[in-house]
Amino acid sequence: MTMEPIPVTCLDSQETGLLMRIGLWLRDHRGMVQKIQWGVVILYVGLVVTPAFLPLPDHYAHLWDNLTLFAQFLFWGIWWPFVLISMVLFGRLWCGVFCPEGTLSEWASRHGQGRSIPRWLRWPGWPLVAFIMTTVYGQMISVYQYPKAALLILGGSTIAAMAIGYFFGRNQRVWCRYLCPVSGVFSLLAKLSPLHFVSDADQWALYRKQFRQEYRQYQNHGLPKVQCPTFLPLKQLNSASPCHMCGRCAGHRDAIRLEARAPGSEITSGATEATRWDFLLIVFGLLGVAVGAFHWSASPWFVTLKQALALNLIESNWFWPLESYAPWWLLTYYPEQNDVFNLVDGVALLAYIAVTALVSGLVLSATLALSGRALGRWSTQRMYHLSLGLIPIAGAGVFLGLSALTISLLRAEQVPVFWAESVRGLILAGTGGWSLWLGWRITERYAGLRKRVTAMLGYALAVAWSVGVWWCLFFYW
Ligand code: SF4
Repeated sequence: MTMEPIPVTCLDSQETGLLMRIGLWLRDHRGMVQKIQWGVVILYVGLVVTPAFLPLPDHYAHLWDNLTLFAQFLFWGIWWPFVLISMVLFGRLWCGVFCPEGTLSEWASRHGQGRSIPRWLRWPGWPLVAFIMTTVYGQMISVYQYPKAALLILGGSTIAAMAIGYFFGRNQRVWCRYLCPVSGVFSLLAKLSPLHFVSDADQWALYRKQFRQEYRQYQNHGLPKVQCPTFLPLKQLNSASPCHMCGRCAGHRDAIRLEARAPGSEITSGATEATRWDFLLIVFGLLGVAVGAFHWSASPWFVTLKQALALNLIESNWFWPLESYAPWWLLTYYPEQNDVFNLVDGVALLAYIAVTALVSGLVLSATLALSGRALGRWSTQRMYHLSLGLIPIAGAGVFLGLSALTISLLRAEQVPVFWAESVRGLILAGTGGWSLWLGWRITERYAGLRKRVTAMLGYALAVAWSVGVWWCLFFYW
């Protein structure tokens, strides 16, 4: 007897809405998706590797006649800022369909040893630690300015992603789920997205029942299975944070769909619990370490700190730290460009970022704690939940910090950028307002109107601080 193939889904693209059809398209066109992925890998290798072997551009070089400058503009000025925006618009579609590191890691995993994932690798703090380490190290070696530094950090990360893929998992993305330095940031931004794959528990159960009735002849077959590359429990799929939007589970058991939702509703509905790591990444990472990393080169306080350190050393007859340098892979060292950090520069840089992260993180923790306390008895979980409301302004700051390079490269090419300040102001005001709105909606879950208004005083201080640290960089210094 010839048997009909067991359907993974009964959903037919003809009878579903546009979003569901897009999800099914992603599922049914893996070949096309893989071609796109390998195309991005080729572009990535070209942009990251080639410039590192070319001479550094001279003062007369332009974006259109110098590959290094062009790659710098495309990679740091366009690619990265717009990847951040894509997280807010489409969830982590970038990760599942375009990211070259994810593609290479999954490819290595397909041909690797398939070992089980050790416990240390599943530690949920890795994305925060990796984000802080790459941000700080990137500043020490001037990753945005020099191609060798970019190759070291990005190439190193890609090799690590492939090695992890080779050793652990099978046809999966262990690196992306547990170790990628930007996965924590992407997870947070994806919570704002208006799109997500979601599972309908009732439909899931109904499918199971119908399947058993209609396909009795397949007694030896279990229900159809889909392997999520990021190890998500498909039956409970309700968050855009860890989902890479690869579409492989679209229509699975007639229960999983790509759906629209109100932007930020994942945060306000409390669909997923905020974790300690989310809180630390927002408060000490995005609004702490990242602020320090973008601030220092424009900050008068950094200059004062450096001068004070140098003066103290001179008065103590300790000249060697002022005359000692490190190789380019430890501290910026490009004498031909008149760009060299001595040990004092390096120490001042690390101290500045650390103090900024600590001060900003503590101010935000205190204001969020006060806000949470105003809503009722002390609850750490409530403070974590409130911190999620700061994601729009935290993400906007990093976007503006990255796009500052875009603006300065355009300015160097005499492209009119008179609009930049107004756009920055609008983005800061808009995302600050969005954060306030999210905060107001979060408080709704915990108390009545009077307590909510009191709580919003503390929360508004947190938003004002978050806007203020970026406003300093773009409008004050
Ligand atoms: S849940 Fe997993 S399989 Fe489904 S779209 Fe997200 S990453 Fe892909």
